Amino acid sequence: MHLERRVLISGGAGFLGSHLSERLLSQGCQVLCVDNFFTGTRRNIEHLIGEKNFELLRHDICQPLFVEVDEIYNLACPASPIHYQRDPVKTTKTSILGALNMLGLAKRVGAKIFQASTSEVYGDPSVHPQPEEYWGNVNPIGPRSCYDEGKRCAETLFFDYRRQHNLEIKVGRIFNTYGPRTHPNDGRVVSSFIVQALTNRPITIFGEGRQTRSFCYVSDLIEAFVGMMATPREVAGPVNLGNPAEFTIAELATQIIELTNSRSEIINLPLPQDDPQQRRPDISKAKKLLDWEPKVGLTEGLTKTIEYFEGMIAEGLVQRVHAPT
Ligand code: NAD
Ligand code: UDP
Repeated sequence: MHLERRVLISGGAGFLGSHLSERLLSQGCQVLCVDNFFTGTRRNIEHLIGEKNFELLRHDICQPLFVEVDEIYNLACPASPIHYQRDPVKTTKTSILGALNMLGLAKRVGAKIFQASTSEVYGDPSVHPQPEEYWGNVNPIGPRSCYDEGKRCAETLFFDYRRQHNLEIKVGRIFNTYGPRTHPNDGRVVSSFIVQALTNRPITIFGEGRQTRSFCYVSDLIEAFVGMMATPREVAGPVNLGNPAEFTIAELATQIIELTNSRSEIINLPLPQDDPQQRRPDISKAKKLLDWEPKVGLTEGLTKTIEYFEGMIAEGLVQRVHAPT
């Protein structure tokens, strides 16, 4: 007989998965980290290897998996535009076949299952800020579609497993989240700007930098994940999870230059196709259902993230910063 909750985290060696692994281990869960290391690294979780409640399994969730668990967090999927566009067909497979395999597993063992969905289901939104009721404005055939439509279809599968098989599901729509262990070369804006600033290389603003994002620090998001899993059965979501403080990309660049005392200049590169112009979560639902709201402001979160990347640079672990042409 097992006493601790057995929790599977797909994508557990990634940015969010590694923080979630730590969080669940600290509350006494048994964690099974499942990852194919497409974008995740052993470095993210090496400090956990050897802990008695932590188990690592190299596995691609596009293949079925037979294990016995009580809860599943389905996080496996490349998350940055550069990574998810590298092999778009694989991104769609991971989103859809991966969701099917995780849902099938949840159904067989009667586990609760959380889906890491995304603000990208809203596409380039025409409603601002975005509430969960908004159905979105997504291009089905563009370069971001493999991710956006994959995640939308995954949501459909989650809700059909709920209706058809009475599965207990929790769907969280995550808005831009940053912090230690974001991959230094994956092109996401916070990590890119920090590494560029720390190495005094040009800060690459796409377009004029007037597009907005709302940045959530990782510890706040992980609390929301755990809170969502703990909600009563009838709470399925989708629930927006993010920090509603909204900044332009130009403001973010200025703040990072100030915090790092950088000599970097700012350069403007072409705006990628279908880049959402504005994004801010309406988090009223999360506040009400999870009694949760973010606590870490941008300056505090950036300061911690800058410290992390200073450490990586000092160890020689950041070779190259992606600068699209
Ligand atoms: P990440 O790239 O650091 O982590 C994803 C992990 O999934 C990696 O460890 C990767 O190796 C693994 N993976 C990818 N394909 C796999 C497969 N087929 N089988 C097994 N493992 C696989 O990204 P992240 O930021 O930690 O994102 C985690 C989840 O949260 C993703 O599903 C992402 O879509 C979602 N999300 C993240 C954000 C964000 O701002 N970080 C925003 C919205 C949604
Ligand atoms: N961005 C930028 N310079 C970079 C990387 C990103 O100006 O080097 C912009 C990008 O065009 C987008 C925003 O920053 O408007 C957030 O990009 P990211 O890839 O982090 O996430 P997204 O929210 O677009 O998925």
